Amino acid sequence: MAQIREYIPIVGQSVIEDLQLLADRLRGKIIQHINSTAVGGGVAEILNRMVPLLKELGVDTRWDLIKGGEQFFEVTKKFHNALHGRKESITQRDFDIFMDASSKNIEEVVITGDIVFVHDPQPIVLVKKKSDNKWIWRCHIDVSNPNQKVWNFLKEFIGKYDSVVFSAPSFSQPLPIRQFLISPSIDPLSDKNKDLPQETIDVVLRKYGISKDKPILTQISRFDRLKDPVGVIEAYQQVKRYIDCQLILAGGAAVDDPEGIEVLEEVKEKAKKDRDIHILLLSQNDIEINALQRASTIIIQKSLKEGFGLTVSEALWKAKPVVASNVGGIPLQIKHKYSGLLCHSIDGAAFAIKQLLNSPEYAKKLGENGREHIKNNFLLTRHLREYMLLFLSLYHQGDVVYL
Ligand code: UDP
Repeated sequence: MAQIREYIPIVGQSVIEDLQLLADRLRGKIIQHINSTAVGGGVAEILNRMVPLLKELGVDTRWDLIKGGEQFFEVTKKFHNALHGRKESITQRDFDIFMDASSKNIEEVVITGDIVFVHDPQPIVLVKKKSDNKWIWRCHIDVSNPNQKVWNFLKEFIGKYDSVVFSAPSFSQPLPIRQFLISPSIDPLSDKNKDLPQETIDVVLRKYGISKDKPILTQISRFDRLKDPVGVIEAYQQVKRYIDCQLILAGGAAVDDPEGIEVLEEVKEKAKKDRDIHILLLSQNDIEINALQRASTIIIQKSLKEGFGLTVSEALWKAKPVVASNVGGIPLQIKHKYSGLLCHSIDGAAFAIKQLLNSPEYAKKLGENGREHIKNNFLLTRHLREYMLLFLSLYHQGDVVYL
């Protein structure tokens, strides 16, 4: 794993010195992250890199997981969808299942943090264990238009935290506690994002039978309806009438996402016998994902809802032209017609894809601008800085932390 000094050539010496300065001020404090899965999805992706780097900077950082059975994760997935505004029938039984599993976790999870950093709704009830330490709730979901029943239920717990963090300004909600806006980030040196030799990319393409002779459109995402994989296929089919191309839909499973298998079946059904559609069920294989992104002509992220959309940052960092929905945190990353193309529908996605395939120079420029934008705003070093400032701010009452 990359060490902190290896980031100097990318972000500059002063950025790393700032991080060390902030870390020094956190000495003696234990930071404890808690979430529900170690692999799959954006939260695990970030913590896997952030935790070792904070440790290297000298901040005592730990990462614990809560446990939950099938029923619990079915309920939390329903909550997730409902918070994203999807219609879900949530019953009292769902709340009971959620509370039962939460009670078990309250018994089992040992709280060691001076600052306890709880990610997303699954472990939210743990805040009942709050003593004289500080608690942060980190919401990675787009809650701009949440189902009120679920939101009101969660609000009771959110109010017990010291602070809450959202990814985008539009997600902010009226709450009695301090709110922070901190966007997620990618690690430019992780296996997912580091430069790869062409040979490695070619090996992965050969492994999955993907041709280099036709343009490659790719969406990397968990098989989740909110990522609209079926909509991606429809957009591809529209494009394919005019331009011969291939589509890769690649995704794995996350233990806290039980819907994956069902959605995968829907996707396979939609793809039928088109040999140019490659549906890849990847186990956690960052090099392969990296290679597929780098091999792509265009990256798509046609989500119906999105917390932030790390896959968009990953694609832009690789200077790829991206067509993505104007939802959640995506417009923070893509300025329309400058660092990618935003779309609002399947037709819109198809139109944008055709435009980029027909104008390679324009597509290249969008990708280059996108890479610069990610470099300036969405790398892990910026994220580490903001989290450490947040930790320090918990010990200050006012809005400003003087360092
Ligand atoms: N990802 C992965 N394997 C997969 C699908 C996704 O490693 O099969 C990664 C993807 O590269 C990205 C993260 O999981 O880093 C997904 O984060 P995003 O914010 O795009 O969506 P989320 O899954 O959190 O809704």
